[in-house]
Amino acid sequence: MGKTYVVVAEARGGSLRQVTLEAIQAVSIVKQDGDSTAGVLIGSQITPLASELANYVDGQVYSIDHPDLEMYNPEAYLNVMKTVFEHVTPDVVVLGHTAQGRDLGPTIAAHMGAGQISDVTAIEKNGNDVLYTRPLYAGKAFEQKQFTGGTQVITVRPNNIDPAAGASSPAEIIELEYTPNGSLRSIVKDIVRKTSGKVDLTEAKIVVSGGRGVKSAEGFKPLEELANVLHGAVGASRAACDAGYCDYSMQIGQTGKVVTPEIYIACGISGAIQHLAGMSQSRIIIAINKDPEAPIFKVADYGIVGDLFEVVPLLTQEFRKVLV
Ligand code: FAD
Repeated sequence: MGKTYVVVAEARGGSLRQVTLEAIQAVSIVKQDGDSTAGVLIGSQITPLASELANYVDGQVYSIDHPDLEMYNPEAYLNVMKTVFEHVTPDVVVLGHTAQGRDLGPTIAAHMGAGQISDVTAIEKNGNDVLYTRPLYAGKAFEQKQFTGGTQVITVRPNNIDPAAGASSPAEIIELEYTPNGSLRSIVKDIVRKTSGKVDLTEAKIVVSGGRGVKSAEGFKPLEELANVLHGAVGASRAACDAGYCDYSMQIGQTGKVVTPEIYIACGISGAIQHLAGMSQSRIIIAINKDPEAPIFKVADYGIVGDLFEVVPLLTQEFRKVLV
């Protein structure tokens, strides 16, 4: 009998998150003939998205739509997953390595007594073996891991696996009831988003980041303009956050967010090891720094030695000509 893969989808702002399509693609890499994929969509007013998810998986989509599920709650979401597992018994559960996936993945693994490999950046098939690559020591080394058996849970890092193309035939949608049992030990009252950016930093294809060299909150304006033209997001070094130029939600690095965009543009960032921990896996790194000896140039694919307040507006101007 084939294996059953269950992908736990995530939605935000009325759309499926791209990492969900990447998680489905992760399944496609390892799937064999006779295996099947189910999607799970949990939330409030997500029913329209269930049909969208159904276009990417070939088995069933389990849709659990309830006002109490609008915000992620580990206990409530685990209760929902337990209901899903009454209908489908997974061999492998796949989630995005997002704030939600990092919490729900181990919760599901603990409930099922499953093994877990987190933060997967690449998947390789070697005969019948599947090797999962994940970063170690803040990206300074990689390990390849393999399950030896049993139920498996993996979380995939956003922006590392190409998003899935559509399935050959849409999945069947199964709506499951959620009954709040009133015994949750904690409830989420509200989520206050600190970023106003249109593009999620951890999923952005292009990140324009500013460091202490940006010199003020006002100094981030040219970076925001460049990010807007490129449909990217704005990030920051810890020094820029510590100086009060921007919010800590924008911090990238060892104690901030880890990003792996296609293009990372570091402006006025020296390239401290703790910053590199959060961005060194970006596909292309462009550094703008007035100090030619700045360590960031050692990891940069392209370096521009110059004043960011001259270089960044010039880049915006040129990209605007071709992109807008
Ligand atoms: P600086 O090192 O001061 O560099 C500023 C750069 O701007 C310089 O290279 C300068 O040449 C350039 N510059 C100045 N003016 C201009 C201009 N007009 N045009 C172009 N270039 C200009 N840091 C993080 O970023 N993320 C983390 O998660 C993080 N975690 C940490 C955890 C620990 C435990 C510790 C100890 C530190 C951590 N740090 C982290 C801090 C880190 O060590 C550095 O202090 C920080 O990354 C430096 O930020 P920066 O590059 O913006 O500032």
